[in-house]
Amino acid sequence: MENPLTPEVLADPVQLTRVLVDIESVSLNEKAIADCVEEVLRGVPHLSTYRHGNTVMARTDLGRSQRVVLAGHLDTVPLNNNFPSTMRGDLMYGCGTSDMKSGTAYALHLAVTLPEPRYDVTYFFYEAEEIESRYNGLNLVAQAFPEWLEADFAVLLEPTYGIVEAGCQGTMRSVVTTTGVRAHSARSWHGVNAIHAAGEVLRRLQTYEARRVTIDGCDYREGMNAVRINGGVAGNVVPDLCEIEVNYRFAPDRTPAEAEAHLREVFAGFEVRVTDTAAGAAPGLEAAPAKEFLAAVGAAPIGKLGWTDVARFAAMGIPALNFGPGDPNLAHHPDEHVEISKIRDGAATLHRWLAPA
Ligand SMILES: [Zn+2]
Repeated sequence: MENPLTPEVLADPVQLTRVLVDIESVSLNEKAIADCVEEVLRGVPHLSTYRHGNTVMARTDLGRSQRVVLAGHLDTVPLNNNFPSTMRGDLMYGCGTSDMKSGTAYALHLAVTLPEPRYDVTYFFYEAEEIESRYNGLNLVAQAFPEWLEADFAVLLEPTYGIVEAGCQGTMRSVVTTTGVRAHSARSWHGVNAIHAAGEVLRRLQTYEARRVTIDGCDYREGMNAVRINGGVAGNVVPDLCEIEVNYRFAPDRTPAEAEAHLREVFAGFEVRVTDTAAGAAPGLEAAPAKEFLAAVGAAPIGKLGWTDVARFAAMGIPALNFGPGDPNLAHHPDEHVEISKIRDGAATLHRWLAPA
């Protein structure tokens, strides 16, 4: 296949978005797009380029005092009658236009056209973000070549509609168990009903007042919810066991250990088992490159409520945020599209931030 990523295409983030969208790359089918990206980057004299699976990394080595990461995933969710792309006025429709080839296009455009950025830059084009984490290109690189991820600050070019979404909340899954004593329901006074005991657990959840926390100017809103309930033996048996699955979304000022301690406090007197936890990420807007990035964007950041790959960087001690032109509400949507003017605005922002002073 002739590489469609020509110099003319690479020079224009809008055309580049469209060409990337038109290379089909549903998760686990990123080889063709990774081949095209790798070939381009290997031809750029100011970059060193590496590949691991279908993840391509390129970096400058200018001896700058700070290094930043620009990262975009190459994969998309499955097609949904939205391939290839189409144009309607100022809107580009198609799978991956918002999430996140318009963002990934920024990284590729800057990698090729900015030989002397103000910071050293590591550009990541990674595979399999949309599926389980064991396939995730950033995760695989972090395990195999952690030194590739060393940086002072990272920007994930996920859709945020042109504003900064910083940090992310943590999530904890747990099971709260109530116990009782089985008995025939005809002589129920011989038993203790575990489902009735669950009423107190549900009452605590219903009256629970979730915290709202502001960190570095970003608001995070916690939530604690029963998401499933299981109990019961038979139609004529007083049940001796009831399990309430509780999902706790916690602000990034709490570690998983602190979140667990809080959960146990809320359900004091009940058996609590934590089954799965992912730490949140503080917004990390104090680093110098982050402050300069916010100045270039010129709008207040907001807190990211869902869990994103930002947390992978945070776990390595690298402050990270999300910034991209797509509308996050359109990600994974059959009508997925991106505004051309948003692509141009975001490209100008990144240029202001990274171009030599
Ligand atoms: Zn995405």
